[in-house]
Formats: sequence, C-alpha cells, structure tokens
Amino acid sequence: MTERIREFLRNRREDGPCLVVDLDVVRDNYLDFARALPDTRVFYAVKANPSPEVLTLLAGLGSCFDTASVAEIEMAMAAGATPDRISFGNTIKKERDIARAFALGVRLYAVDCTDEVEKVARAAPGARVFCRILCDGAGAEWPLSRKFGCEPSLAVDVLEHAHRLGLEAYGVSFHVGSQQGNTEAWDQALASAAGIFRECAERGISLSMVNLGGGFPTRYLRDVPAVEAYGSSIFQALCRHFGNAIPETIIEPGRGMVGNAGIIEAEVVLISKKSASDEVRWVYLDIGKFGGLAETMDEAIRYPIRTPRDGDAVEPCVLAGPTCDSADVLYEKVPYPLPVSLSIGDKVLIEGTGAYTTTYSAVAFNGFPPLKAYHI
Ligand SMILES: *Cc1c(COP(=O)(O)O)cnc(C)c1O
Repeated sequence: MTERIREFLRNRREDGPCLVVDLDVVRDNYLDFARALPDTRVFYAVKANPSPEVLTLLAGLGSCFDTASVAEIEMAMAAGATPDRISFGNTIKKERDIARAFALGVRLYAVDCTDEVEKVARAAPGARVFCRILCDGAGAEWPLSRKFGCEPSLAVDVLEHAHRLGLEAYGVSFHVGSQQGNTEAWDQALASAAGIFRECAERGISLSMVNLGGGFPTRYLRDVPAVEAYGSSIFQALCRHFGNAIPETIIEPGRGMVGNAGIIEAEVVLISKKSASDEVRWVYLDIGKFGGLAETMDEAIRYPIRTPRDGDAVEPCVLAGPTCDSADVLYEKVPYPLPVSLSIGDKVLIEGTGAYTTTYSAVAFNGFPPLKAYHI
C-alpha cells in the first residue's frame, strides 16, 4: 500500500469495489527489470493490465509490447509504441488478424506449428517468426500448461519451414509459467533453446533471438526472490548453454511489471454461518471471481487481504464473492484467516491486484458492473 493509494482511497466517495494502481510502482518495476537484465529488451505483456495509463507510461520509458490480438496492438500503438516495438506473441491467430497486424506495421510473430507458419507466410510475407516451445511450468503458481508451444525437436522443423517460405526464422520462445518462484526455472528451457539453435545452424539457418517470456512473480502472501536474482540466474544459464555466442534476448513480464502496483478496495457484504455449530464463517465480499479475482480459480493465487481489524484474533473463513454462482467462492479448500471482529460493511484491501484483474472482470454478471480502475 503506497501513500498515494491510501490518499486516493481516503477521498473516494463512489460505491463498489475498485482497483487503484500506483504508476510510480510500475515505473520502478520497469527500471528494476531494465537494470536486472541490462542486455535484454522488455516486451510488456499487455494482457496483464492494458490500461492506457500503464501503456503510455511504459511506452515513454522505452518498453516494447507483447500483444495477443489486433485490439492489443492498437492499444499499444495508441499509447505511443511504434510497430517495430510490438510482437504478436499469441500462437493462435486468425490469418486475417495477422494481415491486419502486418498492415499496421508489426513484423514479429509467434508460431508453434507449421500451419501457423503458413498463415504468417501468406499474410505477413518476410516477417520474423519465433517458435514457442513447451515448458512444463514446474514451480509456477499459475502454470500455462500444454496449450502453447511444441516439442523442441518439432520447433526445428517449424523454423525450417518458415525459412523455406521466405520468413525470417528469428528464434525461440518459452514461458516458464506465471508466478514462477524458482529462479532456476529458465535453465532447462535455455538448454533446449541452445539445442534448437545448433540444429538449425546445421540446416543452414542462423537464429538470433531467445524470448525468455514472463513468469517473474509478485509478492502475495509469501516472499519472492528479487528480480536481480532472476536476472543473474538467467544470465548464468545463457552463458552455460550458449557459451560466448549469447543470442539477443527479450523478456515479457506481465505480473512482475504491474502486480504489486495495484490494490483492490472491497466491502464485506455479509458474514454468516451455515449452522449454529459451524466453526467456519462465510465472508461475502462485493468482489469475487467474476469481478476480477479469477486467478483464485483452484485457489491458485492467494492474495494478501488487509482489514481495519488487523491485530484482533483471527479465525478461518470461507471467502466468497457476491454473485449467484456457486463457483464464485475464492478460498474454501484452504480457509482464509480473518479477524473475528470483522463486520458487515467493513472495507478490506486486497493487495497485489495490479495484474490480471480488470481484464478478467465480467461485463455485468448478475448486473454487477465491471471492476472500476483508477491509475494514479
Ligand atoms: C501472459 C504472457 C506473459 C506474461 O506472463 P507473466 O507471468 O504475467 O509475466 C508473457 N508472455 C506470454 C506469451 C504470455 O502469454
């Protein structure tokens, strides 16, 4: 909680939950990334928080942008990014969207199979492509599964196919899983990437770039390593696997860029028990899974929650949202300790919510409006 956010909330009069993001924190995060990985270009993952204020700030600081749709490309450009600073990093694209991105000037595309390469070759002739490889996401609290990427051996064929079709086979990408707590998680993927570089070289294709993806964590309830620790671990892994031929690198931080910059203020709507002897109280907030806290799915992300009664005795509570959907429960498998004195009408602060909240909030499920956000 920064003084600026505290001041803003003191003066806020509107009803309903809201996210407040302190742009000074985003600026500090960007500078920390730039310092920790000095030879790496930063492509901010727009989906984490696409507000114009965040994008404009980052564009001004020199950031590039990783986008997943034409709309995100247009948002980055509206914020001042030139198309040479934008990658179309989604491996799943309609051919006509590739064509629209190409018309806007975007020249860098992600692929993970030969059919996607063919789309890019037709709709964005001569563009650069990087091939995403699978990564198991071990050590991540929000792993990205097998949806994206291919096996390293197939990546060589995909890149060769791109080369044959007149594209520039530019490099390899991976994502070690979001909220990655292990600073060594990049090592295995970099070993695979180096292998792909070697095999492509044997086929006469010289790759230049490794996209190290995101995964840099935000502090929730547990401490996380500082970004410097990630930077040095990644640099050592690059040296280990690429020797003195270290490729160009980029990172795509999302959560690590904006997560700790935001706080959601919410209100306790109801506190109840299911029976007279129930030991666990149910605490219902005016925000839940459909109001922006979707990352509580499977209780994956556990947000720190502050109340005006902190310091009083606590007891385990089930925490739930306000909608008429039984999936709208935030923490139940592992109940959340909250003060016994917590009361209906109390305001609570949900920390670390600058990333992956506004974009997840429903348009009007049960008539609840989408999460209001203020970027100050
Ligand atoms: C979502 C995403 C990111 C951002 O990941 P974080 O873990 O939030 O840093 C980076 N790259 C790609 C391709 C993504 O889809």
